[in-house]
Amino acid sequence: MTEWITGKIIKVKNWTEKLFSIVLHAPIAPFIAGQFAKLRLNIHNVSIQRAYSYVNAPNNKNLEFYLVEAKSGKFSPILRALNPDENILITKYASGSFILNIIPECKNLWMISTGTAIGPREKIINTLYGRIPELIFNGQLENAINLKINPKDTHIMLCGNPNMIRDTYECLNKKYFMVKNYQTSPGHITSELYWK
Ligand SMILES: Cc1cc2nc3c(=O)[nH]c(=O)nc-3n(C[C@H](O)[C@H](O)[C@H](O)COP(=O)(O)OP(=O)(O)OC[C@H]3O[C@@H](n4cnc5c(N)ncnc54)[C@H](O)[C@@H]3O)c2cc1C
Repeated sequence: MTEWITGKIIKVKNWTEKLFSIVLHAPIAPFIAGQFAKLRLNIHNVSIQRAYSYVNAPNNKNLEFYLVEAKSGKFSPILRALNPDENILITKYASGSFILNIIPECKNLWMISTGTAIGPREKIINTLYGRIPELIFNGQLENAINLKINPKDTHIMLCGNPNMIRDTYECLNKKYFMVKNYQTSPGHITSELYWK
């Protein structure tokens, strides 16, 4: 059964009109970089919970999450309106297998993401213009970073928008015959969908 513990909001920082981050303190169990927690609040006597990926390093006590305020979302706008010292429930144990431990040995690891996970790669994307699957299919992405996708030595991690993940997988499968990676059957592509 899921074990919930009480955390305390330390900070809510607005980065853009839609993007914000929250920092909280809670006595969680150790987690692995790439895993996610669930946050939960009681809103008008209804309990709502959603998953959020840890942004902080596992040894940092400031537990941080980057969020997009989903249009007409039930939970993310409420998280954004939280104030320091307010309480929030968080899962004691993190979940998820979008972690380096399950990636087969490879020479090049590509990490492709949308939305809240896109910050560090913003500069590359800004200079490219276009959808990720097309940028891969027409070779623009490889040319931009001067690195070729070779299924023999490349692993690709996809995270975020389910449409991007589905279309990018189809493109990689069609162009390079790359297949999904499972713990039981190693492949080239590991993915995590943020919604259905
Ligand atoms: C494993 C996992 C990790 C996740 N990590 C993060 C994270 O680190 N940061 C984060 O912001 N969200 C993350 N999400 C999504 C998050 O759990 C919620 O779905 C999101 O905050 C919307 O909740 P809501 O109640 O406001 O919207 P809802 O009322 O549930 O409406 C959902 C709709 O909002 C849109 N939506 C959902 N998530 C996003 C998003 N991230 N960006 C843009 N549109 C979205 C979709 O159109 C979806 O149909 C993650 C989801 C999963 C499954």
